[in-house]
Amino acid sequence: MSKIVVQICCSVDSHYFLECLRKDYPDSEVIGFFYNPNIHPYSEYLLRYKDVEFSCNKLNIKLIDGIYDINKWYEITKGYENEPEKGDRCTICFDDRLYITASKAKELGADKFTTSLLMSPLKSQEKLRILGNKLAIDNNLEFIFKDYRSGSGGINQSSTVKSNRLYRQNYCGCMYALNAQRLVQNRLSDELMSPISKQILPNSIEYRLEIFQKRDELYLQQKEFFITKVEFLNYRILTGITLTNKKVLPSYFLAFSYLKTKNVKGKIEFIKDGIGYLNKNGVILVTTDKFNSLAKTTYTSTKELMFNAPSFIKEMELRYIITNEQNSTSPIIIIDEIYLEQDIEISLESIYYNDTKDKIEIIS
Ligand code: SF4
Repeated sequence: MSKIVVQICCSVDSHYFLECLRKDYPDSEVIGFFYNPNIHPYSEYLLRYKDVEFSCNKLNIKLIDGIYDINKWYEITKGYENEPEKGDRCTICFDDRLYITASKAKELGADKFTTSLLMSPLKSQEKLRILGNKLAIDNNLEFIFKDYRSGSGGINQSSTVKSNRLYRQNYCGCMYALNAQRLVQNRLSDELMSPISKQILPNSIEYRLEIFQKRDELYLQQKEFFITKVEFLNYRILTGITLTNKKVLPSYFLAFSYLKTKNVKGKIEFIKDGIGYLNKNGVILVTTDKFNSLAKTTYTSTKELMFNAPSFIKEMELRYIITNEQNSTSPIIIIDEIYLEQDIEISLESIYYNDTKDKIEIIS
């Protein structure tokens, strides 16, 4: 039986592409091959892989995971970091993915290969066609070049993505293109940030992994649900350091802590029930013991908290309990001990920004 190995970049590009291939090649076995060491960070790779797995399961198509050899990818794209999308770095990136796909096709005894990159409006179909045909000759295979995106293809692809509730990513894959895109958008590349606290930050890739894991579960349980968008105010801390008498203290900054001046020096002026108040910028210092009693946790030190923080929602609840304010942005810092007149020096850089996240709503 004829076999077609399809390099899959993401479900947005592959789901409709695979449906069309199936129709055009009814007598061939279609095999998905997820080989994309260009997707950064690894959590995003995992998210896209899981989404493709969901899509292939729905289509009853076998899926093979390629090797995530990120070091090799960095090596082959060295010197091309600042290339624009569709430039020479992308050509190298396609070359690698198609070269490995052709090798995989040979290994699996397939006679044809192709790529879902042909569906992406951001990719040059001509470059893919030339490269695919060259690899086909070198490997004695047939490269399937199909333009399923022309005519009503783009609209069909879009409605397929929506009706199947697939993950629509908003950048191509590599961190070079992501950083360039975010620079133009005047936005933070928050996809590349992951806190040491292991906390799942709002709209982070880890958050999206949870959402799409939930989608998979609901689908299996045959529940009715939809995925909608929510506009909200997001937050990230970039740096947070606390010193006393020029010595750095282990410290943990509660979510939504913000300091307009970025740096402040002051003294603890008041202490009430384990909570200290600095004489500057509304800074609040909370002992680890007080934090434990408010959060019902058992941290033995602030250091432990720094590496294993409670959930973001829990932190927001604590912020409200501590300040008794709905929209407080005062820096709230957890340290092991506080005392009156203690010298405190803080450097804090954090940002707020409008963001849009996916949310699952269960109908029944
Ligand atoms: S922009 Fe996309 S195609 Fe180009 S190098 Fe980055 S991941 Fe590869």
